[in-house]
This record gives sequence, structure tokens and C-alpha cells, in this order.
Amino acid sequence: MEDCIFCKIAAGEIGALVYEDEDVAAFNDLKPQAPVHVLIVPKKHIARVSDVTGGEDACLMGKILVVANKIAAQRGIAEEGYRVVANCNEGAGQSVWHVHFHLLGGRKLGWPPG
Ligand code: AMP
Repeated sequence: MEDCIFCKIAAGEIGALVYEDEDVAAFNDLKPQAPVHVLIVPKKHIARVSDVTGGEDACLMGKILVVANKIAAQRGIAEEGYRVVANCNEGAGQSVWHVHFHLLGGRKLGWPPG
């Protein structure tokens, strides 16, 4: 999508990627909420998690989870624990309309989230 900032980052047009493959890209969050705060996105533009109803898009979500696990291991937070979370729609805090999963770790994470 032309005006989507995460499409541009995922395509390597702006910013720096910490991970990339054919389908998935990852980059550090601009305003990190934890020592490790990486955003993992599908390269395909999907606006929100609730738009994922099956098929190829569902496979993409699984690939993102595998990438989250890889990055967690690389960053040394796999053992202590990490969180993978996606906010869907305004009420849950979504502010960028391209599906993204937050990988958070490196500190104690409270539950329930605010
Ligand atoms: P959410 O509020 O769940 O939609 O998360 C959006 C996240 O994107 C926030 O944590 C922002 O800090 C982050 N963000 C927004 N713009 C950028 C950007 N250009 N580069 C990296 N992270 C960004």
C-alpha cells in the first residue's frame, strides 16, 4: 500500500531491518517499551489481525511466530521469557494499520496488560 509506513519499512525503503525473508520483515520499535521491542510484520499489506481468516494469510501469521522465536533466541531472551502480542483495532491500542506483532522482553512483563 502506497501510504503505509510499515510497507515501506518492510520493503527496505526506509529504516533498518533486523530480520528479513521472502514473506516477513522485522525492525526495532521506534519507542521501545522494553529492552527488546521488535515489530514483526508480513511483507504483504494486511490492515489488522481480524482480516486474517485463513489460507495464505494464516500461514503468514505462523511464519511470524517462528520469526519471533528466532529473534528471541538471538537476543538472548528465550529462556527468561518474552511476549508476542498484536493489538487489533483502536480499543486494543492499534495505531498502525498494517498487521504487526510486538516481540517484547528483557525485563519482567506484568500481566494483565493495561
Ligand atoms: P500499535 O500501537 O500496536 O499499532 O503499535 C504500533 C507501534 O509502531 C508502536 O509501538 C510505535 O512505537 C511503532 N512505530 C510507529 N512508527 C514506527 C516507525 N516508523 N518505526 C518503528 N516503529 C514505529
